[in-house]
Amino acid sequence: VWENCLQIIKDNIPTQSFKTWFEPIIPLRLEESVLTIQVPSLFFYEWLEEHYVGLLRKTVKKHLGDKGRLEYNIVVEKSSSQKPFTTNLPSSGNGAEGKNQSIPMPIALNKDIKNPFVIPGLKKLQVDPQLNPNYTFENFIEGDCNRLARSAGYAVGAKPGGTSFNPLMIYGGVGLGKTHLAQAIGNEVKKTMPDKLVIYVSCEKFCQQFVDSLKNNTINDFVNFYQAMDIIIMDDVHNFAGKDKTQDIFFHIFNHLHQSGKQLILTSDKPPKDLAGLEERLLSRFKWGLSADLSVPDMETRMAILKKKMYQDGIELPNDVIEYVANNIDNNVRELEGAMVSLLAQSTLNKKEIDLALAKQMLKNFIKNTSKEISMEYIQKLVCEYFEVPIEMVKSKTRKREIVQARQISMYLSKSHTKTSLKSIGAFFGGRDHSTVIYACQTVEDLIDTDKKFKAYVHDIQKKLKMS
Ligand code: ADP
Ligand code: MG
Repeated sequence: VWENCLQIIKDNIPTQSFKTWFEPIIPLRLEESVLTIQVPSLFFYEWLEEHYVGLLRKTVKKHLGDKGRLEYNIVVEKSSSQKPFTTNLPSSGNGAEGKNQSIPMPIALNKDIKNPFVIPGLKKLQVDPQLNPNYTFENFIEGDCNRLARSAGYAVGAKPGGTSFNPLMIYGGVGLGKTHLAQAIGNEVKKTMPDKLVIYVSCEKFCQQFVDSLKNNTINDFVNFYQAMDIIIMDDVHNFAGKDKTQDIFFHIFNHLHQSGKQLILTSDKPPKDLAGLEERLLSRFKWGLSADLSVPDMETRMAILKKKMYQDGIELPNDVIEYVANNIDNNVRELEGAMVSLLAQSTLNKKEIDLALAKQMLKNFIKNTSKEISMEYIQKLVCEYFEVPIEMVKSKTRKREIVQARQISMYLSKSHTKTSLKSIGAFFGGRDHSTVIYACQTVEDLIDTDKKFKAYVHDIQKKLKMS
């Protein structure tokens, strides 16, 4: 009977899913109208119930009649005591009876063995948390930009799973310390509660592991591994976007852990409400706990971060150099540190002491020159591109309406965005005199005041100018 059922199922779901979820099933017995099948774990059972209950029910009824029922025999994951338990279909699918029987194998992450999630034969459960030891709270400088996130993180580190910050979601732009802070929580827990099972994993790696485990038929171990953790730190969850199957599995793991009072820590580049491409039910979980943001550090904090870093590396830089770096790299802590490292490297190579002049010289390429002068050539090019007029025409004598307009706007922008004199502007745009420039600026200003469309044009071009 089971063979016949499988045939139907096979025709109704993708081959990969069939291989993963149905091939490992062993039919045990058929008594009256009850078919008993053995599944490899509680998680397997839950998954089947969640995803295939309708299909299973239909198929079984087709072969056994309306009285047909399916019972599960769940293998407990401890080879010595294979105490199966049964449950009926249809069931509520909560599988609560089986909870204390789902004993995971001792696990460690090890890339060299075929299945990284299981190392048989270890007595005590041990997991390498995959944390960078430098990412601690001590090394994480506090500032207005991170105060809430940092203190929430600290609270979670002291009482994982025991605060209302579950999950704790840390969000913010690139290089602002999300990974550092999230790992600091893990390091703190490991320091004070070494027996807690902590795992740090990037969302990307998790997705890859999931795909691999499907391929290697180790999905069961994969899920057991994560469900055995006390704390999961998942980095960059925005990378879940579009990966529905992995989201599905993570949703499952998330629920399991959350229900058992285990801690989840997530990071993301956006607040949960703005995360696109994530399933609604997963997003709603992400919103359960606390979302705290990391923003761009102010000058004082940037200085403190640089000083701390220098202190750690045992180096010294003159104060005006630190100030210069902190002043000019103001939106990314990683780049801030990078600039300093690059300074030091170059000074070692050249065997020169770093002073302000040298720092300026060395960081020329590093600092995206924000104060770079906008040239009249550039303005002319932008304006002509915008209105789709040939560039040489602007300097010509033509009185064609759209050319005149492009010329006047170019003059206006040259006056407001460069330090060029009216005389030089006039000379540049076809050898006109300064009164022509004044007249052009006046005309443009009047039009901005009276013509909405015109105002929008000028505004648009100004935006492009500023972006460059
Ligand atoms: P993200 O994950 O947000 O992209 P990271 O956590 O990788 O950023 O941080 C980038 C670098 O900046 C790391 O070296 C980190 O140690 C450092 N950093 C960020 N914020 C701070 C801070 N408040 N104090 C000290 N170092 C910081
Ligand atoms: Mg990061």
